[in-house]
Amino acid sequence: MKSRKLSSAPVVTGQCLCGVVQFEMEYPAFWAWHDHSRASRLAHGAVYATYVGTWRKRFRITAGEGDINRFAEKETGAVRSFCRCCGTPLIYERTRSRHMINIPRALLVIRTGRQPIYHLAIEEMQDWAYVGEPLVPLKGYPGVFCERSKKKSRVQEARLSALTR
Ligand SMILES: [Zn+2]
Repeated sequence: MKSRKLSSAPVVTGQCLCGVVQFEMEYPAFWAWHDHSRASRLAHGAVYATYVGTWRKRFRITAGEGDINRFAEKETGAVRSFCRCCGTPLIYERTRSRHMINIPRALLVIRTGRQPIYHLAIEEMQDWAYVGEPLVPLKGYPGVFCERSKKKSRVQEARLSALTR
């Protein structure tokens, strides 16, 4: 990614976990979305990834460019960049939109001007994803909460009845 001067538009800054790679993009972003695809799940090691998409020309690496590694997906040609020091995923470039880049939302420190209201590959969403079930504190473990959903309690009931048979 070439280093270039951005216009005087307000910027949103971000960085990787170790702080070696730093970047900025002009505010606001173009859009934001949740990606439930297998590839993004594996690339992030998380149930899904949330991205902010912006025009390539509105994005700039401000530090650590030499510490960015790139991985090209054979099947799709998409390119994923990550910090070679700490492994943080940095940029996701999809072949279908070459003028756009996608940045993990979690790396940006302030509001981006876009809420992630879109879901891609929703059919690949995992059944272990947390989708807002009610939580209760776990007794004896400060700071740990536990789901108390009807689904889970039915499973627990089934296990209990199996044990007591
Ligand atoms: Zn890093």
